[in-house]
Amino acid sequence: MGKRTINLDMTECENREMRLGTIIAWDGSAKELIEQSGYESRSQKKGGCCGNGSKACKLCELNSPMNQQTMCANAIVECQAGNITDCILIQHSPIGCSADNAHFNLAFKKGLRRRHKPVQNLQIYNTNLLENDMVFGASDKLRRTIREVKERHNPKAIFVSMACATAIIGEDIDSICDELEPEVGIPVIPLHCEGFRSKHWSTGFDIAQHGVLRQVVKRENIQKQPDLINIVALWGTDYFTEILKPLGLRVNYMIDTASFDELAQASEAVATATFCHTLGSYMATALEEHFGVPQIDAPQPYGVAGTDAWLRAIGKVVGKEEETEAYIQREHERIAPKLQELREKLRGVKGFVMTGSAYAHGLISVLRELEIEVDGSVVFHHDPVYDGGHENSNTLKTLVDSYGNIPNYTVSKTQPYQLNALFKRVHTDFVIIRHQGLAPEAAKLGIPSLAMGDEHYPVGYDGIIRTGETLLDILSRKKFNQVLSRHARSPYNDWWRAQTDPFLLAHQPEILNERVNLNKKRKGK
Ligand code: SF4
Repeated sequence: MGKRTINLDMTECENREMRLGTIIAWDGSAKELIEQSGYESRSQKKGGCCGNGSKACKLCELNSPMNQQTMCANAIVECQAGNITDCILIQHSPIGCSADNAHFNLAFKKGLRRRHKPVQNLQIYNTNLLENDMVFGASDKLRRTIREVKERHNPKAIFVSMACATAIIGEDIDSICDELEPEVGIPVIPLHCEGFRSKHWSTGFDIAQHGVLRQVVKRENIQKQPDLINIVALWGTDYFTEILKPLGLRVNYMIDTASFDELAQASEAVATATFCHTLGSYMATALEEHFGVPQIDAPQPYGVAGTDAWLRAIGKVVGKEEETEAYIQREHERIAPKLQELREKLRGVKGFVMTGSAYAHGLISVLRELEIEVDGSVVFHHDPVYDGGHENSNTLKTLVDSYGNIPNYTVSKTQPYQLNALFKRVHTDFVIIRHQGLAPEAAKLGIPSLAMGDEHYPVGYDGIIRTGETLLDILSRKKFNQVLSRHARSPYNDWWRAQTDPFLLAHQPEILNERVNLNKKRKGK
């Protein structure tokens, strides 16, 4: 095994800012961001844009004084470790950190149904830290909860997550997990995911995966399964089975909706792939470095070109190159007439994508293959490099090299107050948004919006067809959105709505004080 970049000896997972140089605010063109990211030099650990040798070297990130809303790593752990069907997650936190359980319960149930598994509720408890706990500590509360959870549910493993409050009072969850593990007789897994640990929620994916890799994935008695492939995923429909069946492969989805045993067998798989490098590269790299399961080094499976390359890379690893070529040929012929029809209908239409980072790169590939023009996009964060640093995993570069530049490429967390300026700057006929709360906001501005709930929808050859057909439906409600925009009241004033720079507050922070003073003057204060 080669040099290891992921340390599984520690219970804590190094956050994305330190590991990858992740940023959350930037504005320019996709080409400029590729140059500034310095993927190659970072992957060789020579540092980033400044070449200063630091792997955490930051891109020149915008610093906005305003953050309207966000998620945190704790929430992501909630919807990862809390979505394992026969394990329990204990959130050692005030109850407020579990506020989004209802929303994640819906995602979990939908995911189980999509994967043809029995539908059940989230597997989460909360220790409900109160004022006294903050003063005197809450270790006994956590011990009691671990014992109670074992008694009530007899789970295969118990995960324990930190939150800002538990980190502030210095709760030692590592020691408590170590102490209780022999007593309850199952893995008790600490997850260090307090919200202030990282400025981007995606660190939470890595933290949940870190816990699974350390204490769930089999290290002994490994019986290789040459037809098993790990797919690191969320809750999307099981399209990967039909895509990979012709190569004789069975899919092992990780982490959402999986059982303990399904996760444990990850070390027995022939390879690991994903629908999104943002989500999957930590797990895939650790499985490669620590368990000898190769990571598929390929572009993501979006569009004809991306799917071809992805399948070829898998075919090579499993020794089925000839079968793969024949399969690709058949698929090209099968979808060609429908693809042509969609291209004729969609040619020249303008689209805008607003999703997580690598996923956006995949979606834009699909749109450009449908001959839709994409002049602008927002990604919720940017990783200048992915774990493993594989050459073919540089998704932004693959996108620009294959389909051309995106002149208005913005990195920004889910900030509704920027939408107005973004859509003033770039004309679009529709927008695809992954975080559902933003889609109605765009719709109120008169733009037909697609809330992409099922993240596997655009994957593979059929994914292009599915996406094209759905976009035709979305475009047909243009009139509805125009009417909606005339009747929807904006919470922003005329001055803000007249702006064309989504990062005005970062570029001119003094403007906030000027506006406050102006308002005071108007009110005669
Ligand atoms: S962990 Fe921190 S940031 Fe996350 S929900 Fe709880 S208090 Fe908020």
